Amino acid sequence: MNYTLTDDDRKNLTLFIGECWHEWELYYSEEDKCTAFRCRNENCKLHNILLTPAGIGDVMDRKKQTFPTPSDQHAVFTKLVEVGKWEEFEHYLWNAYLNLDRYKNTSFILWNLESPERFCKLVSEYLKEEGK
Ligand SMILES: [Zn+2]
Repeated sequence: MNYTLTDDDRKNLTLFIGECWHEWELYYSEEDKCTAFRCRNENCKLHNILLTPAGIGDVMDRKKQTFPTPSDQHAVFTKLVEVGKWEEFEHYLWNAYLNLDRYKNTSFILWNLESPERFCKLVSEYLKEEGK
C-alpha cells in the first residue's frame, strides 16, 4: 500500500479534525476598495481578511507541504477518541500492521508512531471504508 496522502485525503482529514479546507472566492471589498480573495466558509478566520494570490499560495502550500505533522497526527488521534472510534480503528490498524509490516521486525506501537503520514493515510482509508 502506498501511504502518500492525496489532496482528497488531506481534505477529508482536515475536515475530520474540525479545521477549514479553504476554498477561495474573489470578491470586491467596499471597505478597502480593492479586489481580493477570501475563504468561502463564513466561519473561517480567513473569511474576513484580504488575501492576494501570493498570500493564498502561501497558505495552501504550507498546509500541503506540512500535513501531516506530528501535531496533525495527534489531532487526528484525539478526534478518533473523541468521536468514539478509536477501538474500531485500532482493529483496522492492527490488521493493516499484520498484513503489511509485521515481518519487518517493528513493534506495533513503534510502527504507529514513526510515520505521521502512514498513520493519517490509514485513518483516511478507515474513514472512507466506514463511510460506505
Ligand atoms: Zn477557510
